[in-house]
Amino acid sequence: MRQGLAADYAASMSFSPRARVHLQNIVANWRTIAALIPESEAGAVVKANAYGHGVAPVASALYEAGCRTFFVAYVEEGAELRTAIGEDASILAFNGAEPSDADLARANNITPVLNALPAIKDWLALMDVPDYAVHIDTGMNRLGVRMEDVAELKALTDGQPPVHILSHLVDSDDRSRAINAKQLERFRQAASNFPQALKSFANTGGCLMGQDYGFDVARPGIGLYGGGPPLPEGVFLKPGMTLEAPILTVQTVQPGETVGYGATYTFDTPRTLATVALGYGDGFPRSASNKGMASLGGITCPIVGRVSMDLITIDVTQARDLAKPGAFAQFIGAEVLLEEQARRAGTVGYELVTGLGHRVRRIYD
Ligand SMILES: *Cc1c(COP(=O)(O)O)cnc(C)c1O
Repeated sequence: MRQGLAADYAASMSFSPRARVHLQNIVANWRTIAALIPESEAGAVVKANAYGHGVAPVASALYEAGCRTFFVAYVEEGAELRTAIGEDASILAFNGAEPSDADLARANNITPVLNALPAIKDWLALMDVPDYAVHIDTGMNRLGVRMEDVAELKALTDGQPPVHILSHLVDSDDRSRAINAKQLERFRQAASNFPQALKSFANTGGCLMGQDYGFDVARPGIGLYGGGPPLPEGVFLKPGMTLEAPILTVQTVQPGETVGYGATYTFDTPRTLATVALGYGDGFPRSASNKGMASLGGITCPIVGRVSMDLITIDVTQARDLAKPGAFAQFIGAEVLLEEQARRAGTVGYELVTGLGHRVRRIYD
């Protein structure tokens, strides 16, 4: 029964989707981004399990390559991260910390990014105050000390100033927006009050805007994984993962037939279909129904009908010779770019990769 199956598929003994995570591509992307801000240190954002790629392998590969500042959302994520990297690397946790998190932060040498004056007051009231960072809100109106409160922040923290000051761009996806330069100006102004602190401003999109946005430490996330805004001329990023699903069955349908739940797609010519093991139960969005695509040997195979929980059907008519049970169709990778698939599904690369569930086996190469 296994005859004709790809060797790696037979070895896995499982008709399940997989994400081949390309650690060397992630490291190469980190270096590419670092080269855009040569006077700054390039950190790495590895929150949400390194955007679904696996925090321990990704962080340890980046650490080996020389990365020494890592960012997560939660102190707990930082504690998990710490086991994968050396003691000499800094870890910052964007979502802040309560005084009750102080022991975990201390034990794992994690610097929480405090996001409001009340949280900073609580932190400063701790015995033997652990290092902390402060987020300044320069326009997002989401997290951070507001510009009009910076003087109060400075006075409040005079005895034990923050070790790190950061802010976050509203629309770095669109380099033409005036808000970027406005935020940059506000950040410079706020940061000048904390001369001893490291300054950090640029996510991936900020790094693509160049050295002015780099400050001391940059915080690229999505670009490490091959996604993010359109790239400037001459800059290339590689896929962080290849998401693949094995073909379970191949069949031919006749004009007038439909496929999948709700019969949302009717064929007008005879077509060859392949049904693959991947679905919204794996985090692949249902909104890709009749819109997303796969690739089989470099040939585009559109998703036809609805994405269901465990299955997707693709039209393999053009790739009929390659469509065999056990062959893998690509849904994210060099042939189906992350942001292209995301756009088709009405979302962004961030959501697509962070949404991938536990049933998607991560394989590291
Ligand atoms: C997630 C996050 C980043 C990384 O942003 P990308 O767009 O993925 O590069 C940087 N800074 C903050 C505060 C974040 O929350």
